[in-house]
Amino acid sequence: MLIVQKYGGSSLADEARIHRAARRVAEQVRLGHKVVVVVSAQGDTTDALLAKVPAVSSSPPARELDAYLSAGELMSAALMAMALQAQGIPAVSLTGWQAGLMTDSDHGDARVRGLRGNRIRQELEQGRTAVVTGFQGVSAEGDITTLGRGGSDTTAVALAAFLGADRCMIYTDVEGVYDRDPRKHPNAVRYERIGYDAMLALAQQGAQVLHDRCVELARRYQVPVQVLSSFRPGSGTMVTNE
Ligand code: ASP
Ligand code: MG
Repeated sequence: MLIVQKYGGSSLADEARIHRAARRVAEQVRLGHKVVVVVSAQGDTTDALLAKVPAVSSSPPARELDAYLSAGELMSAALMAMALQAQGIPAVSLTGWQAGLMTDSDHGDARVRGLRGNRIRQELEQGRTAVVTGFQGVSAEGDITTLGRGGSDTTAVALAAFLGADRCMIYTDVEGVYDRDPRKHPNAVRYERIGYDAMLALAQQGAQVLHDRCVELARRYQVPVQVLSSFRPGSGTMVTNE
């Protein structure tokens, strides 16, 4: 099987969590699966990066902001590849442009257009786990773009769609998709399954769990998405065609 696993910022917030995520990836590799890992920047890195900008420029060019913000995911990807190798799993980190994830040139809010080249497949065929930076791609002009805040989910679903993955697993800090934000409402109810349309409505209402473009893409390419906790066992929520 080909599996895409995405780890959000809270799932990678410190070294212990990176190792925990790497162990989960390693489990799948040892079962004989090929795994593409998509990572977000660690913890609140993206916010911390953004907070430094105003002191340098009150109107930062969007192109440079994207180049700058893409660094958070790059650090995560390299650390994850190191952690996997430390666990005996051959792995390679790839940026959005190395992976060939093409987008339009709407800096800061780019839309995914396709996957160019074969780099990810080549790495997998060589027996390496590909660790791809979430949240970013490359425009036709060859510039780094970002997909909008929370965009790593979209990267994961896009790669699952373009690579024809069997599963797309999104690891996060809640145990799946709930009718309300479980971080704020203790009585929130978790869905075992939810259809794309209902999920899209939740995402557009501001449910933080999945990026709305990620759900649109999952619906368009019919990618079943499993949303799971990084910290607790359980099958989470399956987002599919109901
Ligand atoms: N690091 C980016 C953000 O904080 C992308 C993501 O986490 O999905 O928005
Ligand atoms: Mg997120």
